[in-house]
Amino acid sequence: MTRTPSIVDRIGAAGGRIPFSVEFSPPRDADAEARLWRAVREFERMGPAFVSMTYGAGGSTRDRTVRVTGDLAEETTLLPVAHLTAVGHSVDELRAMCGAYADRGISNILVLRGDPPGDPLGDWVKHPEGVEYAEDLVRLVRDMGDFHVGVASFPEGHYRAPDLDHDTRYLVSKLRAGAEYSITQMFFDVDDYLRLRDRVVAFDAEQGAKPIIPEIMPITSLRSARRSLELSGSKLPARLEERLTKAAGDGPEENRAAVREVGIEVATELAERLISEGAPCLHFITLNFARATREVLTNLGLATHAA
Ligand SMILES: Cc1cc2nc3c(=O)[nH]c(=O)nc-3n(C[C@H](O)[C@H](O)[C@H](O)COP(=O)(O)OP(=O)(O)OC[C@H]3O[C@@H](n4cnc5c(N)ncnc54)[C@H](O)[C@@H]3O)c2cc1C
Repeated sequence: MTRTPSIVDRIGAAGGRIPFSVEFSPPRDADAEARLWRAVREFERMGPAFVSMTYGAGGSTRDRTVRVTGDLAEETTLLPVAHLTAVGHSVDELRAMCGAYADRGISNILVLRGDPPGDPLGDWVKHPEGVEYAEDLVRLVRDMGDFHVGVASFPEGHYRAPDLDHDTRYLVSKLRAGAEYSITQMFFDVDDYLRLRDRVVAFDAEQGAKPIIPEIMPITSLRSARRSLELSGSKLPARLEERLTKAAGDGPEENRAAVREVGIEVATELAERLISEGAPCLHFITLNFARATREVLTNLGLATHAA
């Protein structure tokens, strides 16, 4: 396997200013792929510490995800992180996926359990020859060789966890199993992120020293933001809901320009507070568009290379 920098090394080497990173999704067709590559080239000029590529629910986009993530590794200057989910896969298939990533020079993997296909909030059913929890997949990937592994964390707690203590315990287990960092679910209340960080430190100081990278979603449409929140089980704080609803107006169509303006302001405010609280990196959901993230980075004075 070609050795690439780990995410922890890469964000640690960022120097004086906070690094940022971005999340892409596998494109659905040729037009979407062309759009993704426009965003990729634009981000290349802005110098993200790394870029991550999600894995379609239930492994539905497996071949395309591997191909496009491999192309990012081979045809750009970016450092890709491949999301890998356990849902719907046997252990043999999961091993084969890791092999396919290694063949394309990818050694950074974000290990996830994934949600059931169809209804993401439906019952979780383990593949008969698969793994039950992300923690088991962390071990499997680590045992396969020289991979650097990250995992998911949840500032508001995972919706299936009985309470925040259990949620913290399971996150710490994933870190102890060999994960080097976590990336959070998107959130809109920085205090939730700070409390998660404190809980992990209180539970296990050694694991608490590992970076918790906050994920930020700049809202550009209230309707799609509500849908993403519903799927992820996260909440929009009431004061923010009010601000966005006011911007959307009460016409039949939401006022997209006004919502977008507020969404960029909100993401900027969130990022400013995270920077002042010492977050290790800012990870942006891009939906394969560069503009909203570039605007937030410009507001933060972090887009000096942006076109
Ligand atoms: C940054 C990020 C990126 C994501 N990317 C993708 C993606 O690309 N594709 C996709 O399909 N989904 C993605 N997801 C969603 C994720 O797959 C779901 O949120 C999933 O429900 C949980 O995944 P996990 O890896 O945290 O699972 P786990 O860590 O296995 O946790 C699943 C549930 O089981 C509980 N649990 C864990 N261990 C134990 C245990 N030992 N005993 C009892 N309960 C336990 C946890 O508290 C949690 O409720 C992403 C989420 C995040 C935050």
